[in-house]
Amino acid sequence: MKSFIQIYKEAKNKIVGIAAAPGIVITKAYLFNKEKIEINNGEITDIEEAKRNLEEAIAKSKKELNKIFSLAKEKMEATRAAIFEAQLMILDDPVLLSNINLRIEKERKQPEYIVNDEISKYQQLMILSHESYMAERASDIEDIKNRIIRNLQKKRWQSKIISDLIVISENLTPADTILFSRCNVQGFITDHGGLTSHAAIISRSLNIPAVVGTHNATKHIKDGDTLIVDGFHGYILVNPSQDQIDYFNNKIEKLSELQAGLKELKDKPATTTDGREITMLANVDVTGEIDLVITNGAQGIGLYRTEQVLEELGEFPSENEQARIYSNLSARVYPSPLTIRAFDIGGDKFKFFAFDEPNPFLGLRGIRLLLENITLFKTQIRAVLKASKNKNIEYMLPMVSTISEIRRAKQLIEECKKELIQEKEIFDKNIKIGIMIEVPSAALMTYELALEVDFLSIGTNDLIQYIMAVDRGNDLVSDLYQEFHPSVVRTLYHIVKEADRAHKTVSLCGEMAADTLAIPLLVGIGIHHLSISPSILPYTKRIIRSLSFEKTKKLAEACLTCSTEKEITEKLDKFFKDNSITRTRNII
Ligand code: PEP
Ligand code: MG
Repeated sequence: MKSFIQIYKEAKNKIVGIAAAPGIVITKAYLFNKEKIEINNGEITDIEEAKRNLEEAIAKSKKELNKIFSLAKEKMEATRAAIFEAQLMILDDPVLLSNINLRIEKERKQPEYIVNDEISKYQQLMILSHESYMAERASDIEDIKNRIIRNLQKKRWQSKIISDLIVISENLTPADTILFSRCNVQGFITDHGGLTSHAAIISRSLNIPAVVGTHNATKHIKDGDTLIVDGFHGYILVNPSQDQIDYFNNKIEKLSELQAGLKELKDKPATTTDGREITMLANVDVTGEIDLVITNGAQGIGLYRTEQVLEELGEFPSENEQARIYSNLSARVYPSPLTIRAFDIGGDKFKFFAFDEPNPFLGLRGIRLLLENITLFKTQIRAVLKASKNKNIEYMLPMVSTISEIRRAKQLIEECKKELIQEKEIFDKNIKIGIMIEVPSAALMTYELALEVDFLSIGTNDLIQYIMAVDRGNDLVSDLYQEFHPSVVRTLYHIVKEADRAHKTVSLCGEMAADTLAIPLLVGIGIHHLSISPSILPYTKRIIRSLSFEKTKKLAEACLTCSTEKEITEKLDKFFKDNSITRTRNII
């Protein structure tokens, strides 16, 4: 059977976008064309009537949003549904409302013109920030603006469609996404939007395959076209051939068989056939993923990227707000551990905290930035400690490159503990402190660093970029981003050996652990824990359960003698074939 790569390479009827929510679906298209809103900027004669109309339109918008909010709460996790709560809050913003009312009095123009103008000003500011996150939020605001204007014009909004279709639109607001889900929509395709667009996030929460950011899907797809949407790889096939339909039907069948089989593994350990158990942890980026952590049988959270909270909220939450978020998460996974990683800001992450650095990836990032911003760091440490009452929280420091960074961070943690004791707060006084090994200097000094902390976690995403001197996000040099380069494999081996010598656990939480090809090698090298995206966890567990630890050790030894990436990947491929293990990648 052909691989996906071959299928897509040959296909002339493909549209490429960003894989926003996993799953494959084949059905008909529904082109959702939003009616263009015409704004009347005419003069008004009756100011009081205009203000009354505005008040009614806002009340109606609130009623609609409240309905969507309760629908969202039924369908998805509370944190996700909060998008709509935030929109409701804008409708209650006294400054915005009084500005609009004042302008109606002064300019005597139609309220819809003033609403459009006033809210567009906010949007412009957000778009001009050039941050993809802010630009996405600007499109959420567009939704509220249009809702008020439509209600001022007393028009109805179409959100009901024939059931079981794939919706294609230039853009989708979170409200559209939720409302369409009532009609059992099978998939979403948009011209605009990225992975952080709320439509993408909501599709993931609702388990509806989605491909976003296609640029021109609405131009190439017509109502009633048959489509194949592949939310794993970000491709759409328009009016597919019978061969293509057969190929993807086969994939869908395999996928559902695999998923049924994987469910049975949920409560079984990831133990090799000869008894070596690997602890399976989950990486959590957005709080919505927590349900998957539980349903997919993770033994805890190995990496909670707290900078994602900043991305979601768009600002630094207060100490108590952070403590509440961390406490909730710790309660959800209790008694399993929750590894909270200190804000890893800098590099390409959370650019609100903007510095102009010539080489941001080599600049003020992770622990370096936190040690330069003690108040920010201490706020998080205090919040983590306050949330640690259940004693299942661990705290991990990113981007460590020297021992003195660890010592300074530990000093600050002790300071916070003393303050909290004085404030009579209850917390875990023996909270475990760990570090990420993701910089070559830390990797080389693993033993010495390990003596300073309770645990280590290898961040291969960064470690590979720094070992190979290749920007992890730069397409021009992506060939050099080689997770199986001998230097990478040898470094991983060194880290595990040195962690063992220091009697410290070592986990691996980079994307390498999500590549099924890497699993036998990582097991053979002796990694203790793997932390991966919860949706991939069952696939990895299935592979580990079919491995012999003794054989993987031999495989690792052989890989350590290789001089090129190719030699290593060939050995790994052969290992899968010789041992008749199916790799997930061959299925999805
Ligand atoms: C890593 O670098 O491998 C890692 C897990 O951290 P992040 O991807 O958040 O930088
Ligand atoms: Mg990293």
